[in-house]
Amino acid sequence: MIDGLGRHIAYLRLSVTDRCDLRCTYCMSENAKFLPRQDILSLEEMSIIGHAFVALGVRKIRLTGGEPLIRHNIIGLVRSLGTLVDAGALDELTLTTNGTLLAGHADALALAGIRRINVSLDTLDPNTFAAITRRHRLADVLAGLSAADGAGLKVKINTVIHADTDQDELDRMIEWCGRRGYDLTLIEAMPLGDVAPGRPPISLSSVQAGLARRWHLSPLTDRTGGPARYFRVAETGGRLGLIAPLSSHFCDDCNRVRVNCRGELRLCLAGGASVDLRPALAGPSSQQAVMALILDRIGTKPARHEFSDPNPPINDWSHLPMHAIGG
Ligand code: SAM
Ligand code: SF4
Repeated sequence: MIDGLGRHIAYLRLSVTDRCDLRCTYCMSENAKFLPRQDILSLEEMSIIGHAFVALGVRKIRLTGGEPLIRHNIIGLVRSLGTLVDAGALDELTLTTNGTLLAGHADALALAGIRRINVSLDTLDPNTFAAITRRHRLADVLAGLSAADGAGLKVKINTVIHADTDQDELDRMIEWCGRRGYDLTLIEAMPLGDVAPGRPPISLSSVQAGLARRWHLSPLTDRTGGPARYFRVAETGGRLGLIAPLSSHFCDDCNRVRVNCRGELRLCLAGGASVDLRPALAGPSSQQAVMALILDRIGTKPARHEFSDPNPPINDWSHLPMHAIGG
């Protein structure tokens, strides 16, 4: 599937819920409003959407949210999409999770065809964890990670950073991830939704300079078709990724689109109009109808994100926080 600028679209991020058991300050307000349950697609409808994208050439699907593991019977969806991996139609089915419920799901995820997962974790300090997520759940996340290791899942840790993120904290994360054999990606906080006033964003170039004082980082040529730039950390042997949506543009080779949990196709995280796939799901031959609608609109994928636009257009993405978009 090729968009209007010749970019090959091969990656779908499918959000299965906008709800979550944490309240990370940069993602959700404490009193976040969630969609009424009747507005959220069934897992069967999500499976149809996933199959439609794969029939159009998507090779990687990531389940996300909100927190995907709080969705009842999420393993059923994983199994349904996992058959596409078994059939060779999909290279990878994966998921991004906060890890709180991973201990109870790791084995089932591995059995259903997941090989690698991303776990979001910003700190190893219980108090800092509670301050960032507004919940005391670090022990659950660590238990989840141990279960993932036991199930043979390859883990990558995602850490969101701000200008006031403590350098010692980052050093601890790098050392700990290296010891546990986890890749680590540092993500520049993005201004999505009005959820975290007062925390200054950061440019990853300054983070890189800070890290270089303590670690020897050698650039790697690995690209996963995503926005991360990768480095090898000489001291740990681990791989470190940096994602800088604000301080660098990576849109020229963007290969991804998103579908949120109410069935809206979002062609760019921060820009452009969304496309409602639900009418296509309603009729008979729904997979074909969804495919036709996607093909009709894929050409409108914006050239670039609008994070740096001082006057974003009317369909202003910036009012929606990450949990509602599907991170
Ligand atoms: N609940 C799951 C989790 O936290 O991994 C999946 C959904 S979460 C929205 C997906 C990713 O988006 C997480 O890695 C989270 O840290 C990241 N995220 C959320 N809000 C963000 C923001 N404002 N800027 C950058 N990344 C953000
Ligand atoms: Fe929940 Fe993930 Fe958002 Fe944190 S980042 S509030 S875990 S959806």
